[in-house]
Amino acid sequence: MSTLIYNATLLPCTAAMEVLPAGWVQIEGARIVALGTGAPPDLPDAEQIDAGGDVVMAGMVNTHCHMAMSLFRGLGEDVDDRLVRYILPLERRFVTPQMVGAGTALAAYESIEAGVTTIADMYYHEVEVGRVLDTAGLRGVVGQTIADFAPPDHANIDAGFTLVDQLVAAFAGHARVTPSIAPHAPYSTDIPVLARVARYAEAHPGVPVQIHLAEMDSEMDWAQRTHGCRPVEVVARAGLLRCGLIAAHCLHVNADEAARMAAAGVGVAHNARSNGKAGRGIAPVEAMREAGLAVGIATDGAMSGNTLDLFAQFAPVAMFQKLLGHSRARMPALEVIRMATIEGARVLGLAGQIGSIEPGKQADLIRVSLSAARQQPVYDVYSTLVFASVAEDVRDVMVAGRWLMRARAVQTLERKKLMRDALQLATAFKAEMHLIDTGRKIS
Ligand SMILES: [Zn+2]
Repeated sequence: MSTLIYNATLLPCTAAMEVLPAGWVQIEGARIVALGTGAPPDLPDAEQIDAGGDVVMAGMVNTHCHMAMSLFRGLGEDVDDRLVRYILPLERRFVTPQMVGAGTALAAYESIEAGVTTIADMYYHEVEVGRVLDTAGLRGVVGQTIADFAPPDHANIDAGFTLVDQLVAAFAGHARVTPSIAPHAPYSTDIPVLARVARYAEAHPGVPVQIHLAEMDSEMDWAQRTHGCRPVEVVARAGLLRCGLIAAHCLHVNADEAARMAAAGVGVAHNARSNGKAGRGIAPVEAMREAGLAVGIATDGAMSGNTLDLFAQFAPVAMFQKLLGHSRARMPALEVIRMATIEGARVLGLAGQIGSIEPGKQADLIRVSLSAARQQPVYDVYSTLVFASVAEDVRDVMVAGRWLMRARAVQTLERKKLMRDALQLATAFKAEMHLIDTGRKIS
């Protein structure tokens, strides 16, 4: 199966971040074999696609998500204690493989519609997440959560590690789904568990580690109180500051810590919208990148940031750094797109396979229309993508040479069924919330 896309505003998203007018890409099977500008090669047997000047760029990488939590989108929106009041009781009661499958399918559909082709997920029953990603045709890093607060799928840490073993066995050698181990956060695991995760990672070099790190003021207090240091140092003492660690949030990272994390080969997932909505603060993204850290863009779960679409992240990602630096020149639009593509792939350890349009890489790419009035005129295509485009501008999505969406029609998931499943669960959640609010819930 070969495909030729031509007449594109081609953004290969390689180090140079070039814009190739009248660009073309040749795809054979799952891989990109050639690209260029001007007259495309004569390939009469290939599927021919005239992009009509639309942007064709590398598929976007969401470096931190809890896909199944899309079922909690907007729930208890402005309730300060909603985690303890609603979410934890709902998770205890309702999180099953079926619920995770339903929430992940909803999230996968939304991701495809938004041009996200790779997602790093951490939640429960991750075998189910991997299955849904596989069916959807997406690429992902699926992280089984480990925590000591008796989460819904493991009563203790040993049981958590058993789930990790099952996940790794289920997806060993899978072309698109990478199994991962996800200690929830320093404060919900502590050093002995983190050290055990570090030993596990040492013994399983292909299994990345995901963690929430240096996210909250309360986490800073916990680290100081418990260990007399900062969260990054807690992770270092456990031996977990290592290549393959994907650290989400990283709001409280100073210059020394950034240098140390960069030297260790850690990747950072930046969740601007989620951090902003929770009032947590602003991650020092430019400082971390200047220290040599790869920083990708992430949505967090839809409970936190409401959308799994990177376009909705772009403005806060850029604006937060402009606000921090009191300068319009900070975090240029081109850098935002770099973070959403090749740098996000680096964060996940996948830059050898995805993140840019280059011969030999996987054919993960998207086509984005520039024809809306709100996008015109176009002086700088990166500025148009970051500040004037929305998810609905994505026309077509391809992963590993397979079309997941054509002309905004998702090809791989059944919309009616996943919407019905989500609605059914949301109805049950609402009934449970009513019991909680009226004091009739005995927990
Ligand atoms: Zn998170």
